[in-house]
Amino acid sequence: MPRKPIVGGNWKCNPKTLEEAQKLIGEWKNQVPLDKRKIDVFACPMMPHLLKVKLPMEKLGISACAQNCSKTGEGAFTGEVSAAQLKDARVQWTLLGHSERRTKYGETDEEVAEKVSQALAAGLKVVLAIGELLDEREASKTDEVNERMLKPVVAKVKEEDWSRIVIAYEPVWAIGTGKVATPEQAEETHAAIRAYMAKAVSEDVAEKVRIQYGGSVTVDNCAELIKKPNIDGFLVGGASLKASFMEIVQKSTPPPVLKKPKWSKITDLNPTTKGFNCMLKCTKAAAQVEGTEGVFEAVCGDDTGMCTVSFRNKDLCDICKEGASLRMQNAAVRMVKGGYMRLVVDKWSAFKPADEPVDFEVKTSNDVSSVEYELVGES
Ligand code: PEP
Repeated sequence: MPRKPIVGGNWKCNPKTLEEAQKLIGEWKNQVPLDKRKIDVFACPMMPHLLKVKLPMEKLGISACAQNCSKTGEGAFTGEVSAAQLKDARVQWTLLGHSERRTKYGETDEEVAEKVSQALAAGLKVVLAIGELLDEREASKTDEVNERMLKPVVAKVKEEDWSRIVIAYEPVWAIGTGKVATPEQAEETHAAIRAYMAKAVSEDVAEKVRIQYGGSVTVDNCAELIKKPNIDGFLVGGASLKASFMEIVQKSTPPPVLKKPKWSKITDLNPTTKGFNCMLKCTKAAAQVEGTEGVFEAVCGDDTGMCTVSFRNKDLCDICKEGASLRMQNAAVRMVKGGYMRLVVDKWSAFKPADEPVDFEVKTSNDVSSVEYELVGES
């Protein structure tokens, strides 16, 4: 079962005025509406703004998230806001353990764990931020630091309560620096976090827990990051203070899954549109593309044209044998040029042996508008 992506905006101590905060929500409203069935979205304005913009945000399908909560309950704790008070104000989420809280306000791993415990007990959902400093990465201590931060939380949280926690992996050297982790760096660390969760909690929790990446995420780099199998969304700082935050949400939303493919002749093809279904006959078995790290390609077609299918999942090579009939759902069409089509299998595509043999040849012609190829667009 794929994990539902989740994207959040951390506004930190911004913007200066309530008017600016309201204006931003107004700008988000003018963007493409988000599909709540496919993606969870939250934003974390600072406390006085949070309660004012909560309702307009919720109307857009965006949950209100606090940036912090107290490790104590109500009482003589000047300056604190308890988890139960947040819940009473109808706030459903809180961010905890952000690196700025840890490094600028001295929050320890144990204090963060206590806050998580308070928040869960009050019925809140938690975004738990973890991540290493630059010198820790350079000393190859990334996984050790993440485990150190997770360990006290693991000790306090019951297995069933992990369904209310999202982990935000945010390498501190990438936060607000413009120096984003590469998709490979982020994926490697997310996979290590998942492996730790499997060992420390359970396989089931490790499989289900959503892990966001955070650190200089922008409209330009999010699409490559979200392709990685262990990256389930983003915690966005600076870029969440812009109207284009909603583009990050869009790019993190899985394309429509076509449950009942119906095959028809294509008359028009938008190369950037995702979600095409097709049946293919493999004419050249999948092989690793020379000079790449883990990119595989198979060719389907005949002398009238061809279609190259690219993917990163090595396991798909097993079904991509010469002569095999294949069915593809949600393929991303990356290029259509001169009778040549490139389809990309990403984590939201299904690529399986066809139930029934493909009894037609794959034919493409130079003119896409008259291509003789069985495909159907998004419905
Ligand atoms: C953050 O503060 O959580 C963050 C990821 O910031 P930025 O996106 O600006 O790096």
